[in-house]
Amino acid sequence: MNDCSSGKCGLTYEQRRILHEKGTERAFTSPLNDEKRQGVFHCAGCGEQLFSSEHKYDSGSGWPSFYAPINEKALGEDTDYDIGYARTEIHCAKCGGHMGHVFPDGPKPTGLRYCINGAALNFTPKTG
Ligand code: FE
Repeated sequence: MNDCSSGKCGLTYEQRRILHEKGTERAFTSPLNDEKRQGVFHCAGCGEQLFSSEHKYDSGSGWPSFYAPINEKALGEDTDYDIGYARTEIHCAKCGGHMGHVFPDGPKPTGLRYCINGAALNFTPKTG
């Protein structure tokens, strides 16, 4: 992972807190929670494509939610016990930046809910 302590990485304090320290943004604070355009969501840390609008849905949680990543290799998983029980932490497979968690209460066809910090993503709307 890049060392952004110098502040030269171009990330905000909030983005570094999430990506590098596994922080969580407050619910309903990310503009991407309400983003409904077609397009691709990139890792804010390294630019890798992680999620597509195709798989985005409104979970009501206040965090951008997807039922699948953009491809099978985009994300890495870890188990964390930060709040007392096991959760599956997900991060960018390329740079290691923390994205959020995945829960088994999502919609069909996967039944998964990728609960993502909007500040960990950059959205590129589809053109044309
Ligand atoms: Fe990344």
